[in-house]
Order: sequence, then C-alpha cells, then structure tokens
Amino acid sequence: MNTIIIDTERCKGCYLCIEACPKNCIEQNGRPNASGNYPVQFVLASECIACALCALVCPDVAITVFRHVKEAKTADTAMA
Ligand code: SF4
Ligand code: SF4
Repeated sequence: MNTIIIDTERCKGCYLCIEACPKNCIEQNGRPNASGNYPVQFVLASECIACALCALVCPDVAITVFRHVKEAKTADTAMA
C-alpha cells in the first residue's frame, strides 16, 4: 500500500497538502506540535495513489511519499 510520512514537528499547519490531495487522504490532526501548530495526519491510506502532490506543495518539506512497488516474480518464486 502507498503511504506518506509526515514530520509533524516540521509542519506549520498551512494545509496546502489537504487542498492538493486529490483523494482526501490528509486531514488536520487536532493536536498541537511543540511549536503550537496543528499538523496534519494521513488518513484513508487505501486511497493514496502516491502522486506526491502533497509533498510537492509542502513549503516545509514535511512530507515523504512512499510508493508501493510489487515485487516481480522470479523463475524460482513463479515455480513455487
Ligand atoms: S501522495 Fe497524492 S494521493 Fe497520496 S496523500 Fe499525497 S497527494 Fe494524496
Ligand atoms: S503542506 Fe506541509 S506544512 Fe502545510 S499542513 Fe501540509 S505538511 Fe504541514
């Protein structure tokens, strides 16, 4: 499954990523970080298409996107 990691201490709560996500996978967290900002959290992980728009718009580089890649079958595993 695709996933994103949010550095909640970097996040300043601008919510550009919420606006950018075409799948509504990101929402406000509701708990302030050490700086008093309200960071975002990743929800609806099953919907994430790993488009990386959230990471691209984040001005604080607080989001990292991981795309799930299916392992190719080797001759050995295909025979098993
Ligand atoms: S990678 Fe794309 S689909 Fe996934 S959370 Fe970010 S903007 Fe949304
Ligand atoms: S765009 Fe970055 S700084 Fe703004 S709310 Fe999203 S993660 Fe936080």
